[in-house]
Amino acid sequence: MNLKINENGNMVIGNIDVNEIAEEYGTPLYVIDEERIRDNYKRVFNTFTKHYNKFRILYACKANTNLTVMRILEEEGCSIDAVSPGEVYTSLKAGFAPKKILFTGNNVKDEELKFVDEQDVLINLDSISQLERLAKIVNPENYKISFRVNPMVGAGHHEHCITGGVMSKFGIKEEEAPEVYKKAIDLGFKPVGMHSHIGSGILDPKPFKLATNALLDIAANVASEVDINFEFLDLGGGLGIPYTPEEKPLDIDKFAEEITGIFKSKTKEYGLGTPYLYIEPGRYLVGDAAVLLTRVNTIKNSYRKFVGVDAGFNTLLRPAMYDSYHHIAVANKGNNREVEKVDVAGNVCESGDLFARDRPLPKIEEGDLLAILNTGAYSFSMASQYNSRPRPAEILVKNNEVEIIREKETYDDLFNKQILPKRLQN
Ligand SMILES: *Cc1c(COP(=O)(O)O)cnc(C)c1O
Repeated sequence: MNLKINENGNMVIGNIDVNEIAEEYGTPLYVIDEERIRDNYKRVFNTFTKHYNKFRILYACKANTNLTVMRILEEEGCSIDAVSPGEVYTSLKAGFAPKKILFTGNNVKDEELKFVDEQDVLINLDSISQLERLAKIVNPENYKISFRVNPMVGAGHHEHCITGGVMSKFGIKEEEAPEVYKKAIDLGFKPVGMHSHIGSGILDPKPFKLATNALLDIAANVASEVDINFEFLDLGGGLGIPYTPEEKPLDIDKFAEEITGIFKSKTKEYGLGTPYLYIEPGRYLVGDAAVLLTRVNTIKNSYRKFVGVDAGFNTLLRPAMYDSYHHIAVANKGNNREVEKVDVAGNVCESGDLFARDRPLPKIEEGDLLAILNTGAYSFSMASQYNSRPRPAEILVKNNEVEIIREKETYDDLFNKQILPKRLQN
């Protein structure tokens, strides 16, 4: 994320001093930059379509399912990768046409298949079991489907996020792909696509290129054994963003050129026609478009120097869950050069609730405002009410305008859907 500091040393997003936003709405608080989302979308779309115009971006909405975020992407012309019936429902609510949604479930049950079918959304199947069950739920005659395959390439920022290779629970085995497509056709289905997704947070184009090659090889192998016309080949998501100051952003121009290069030469070589190329970025579109603002409550000099803030892993799980690095800025002291190393700790009652260890930061005092950067993806969407803390508000900024797009939860929201048996009520 581009850190902008004004002359007073205050951090600015969308032309607005974040200190003012924190004053008005309280902390912790997610602040989302609309223009950044639009720019991220356009950058990917424009670079890929320069090389291959049958191209679609399916936003992996699990990264951030806020309706406003999804509306912004819908306006840009984006499509959707949904991984649960709830995400299909959310996408429809955000105005995406059913045709623009691809459902890629995992360990899906019958009632979920039924629900997605009723919404008229294309189903990307992940196992033979799902295929057989779907055949009993819908009339397979000319019913369009797609399959997720395992391209035997995996990559990601953490072991939990690698979704290809022999340890992965996802996709159809490479060598089984032809018989699975054949079985689908025998059942009457009309397979129109093939999908893979190898992992998340990838800044090195190499595994992505290997996976592109692998997917096209598998598609060609399938096409050589069954009668199929691929309408699309979906390379999945996983495009990374730099979280640390040392990491370099993905060279998207070069990336697009290389991926479309492989795609074009292999589709031609194998006679696969000109299918749509899909990719499914989540993090890349929204990750660097938001910050989490949190206020310093307590400074404690015990065995270490702890800077205690009013957010915790209930607000932002990634550091505790994946040991992820998130850059932290002191939003009211951007010009202060007096640096010291501190631990930034959340307010949840667990030792693992740390946003940073030994982090060099400008000298911090109680009452300072911290901005945890790159928290647009897998941040609010993974937030919980753990420790009975209501989830925070979300704010949208755009050209001097500040809009609240999700209210902060109240204490009463902690009891949503709970039912106290009559005999225990007083
Ligand atoms: C999570 C996921 C993505 C997006 O991953 P990012 O790392 O956010 O780009 C894409 N496709 C599928 C099927 C996913 O599960």
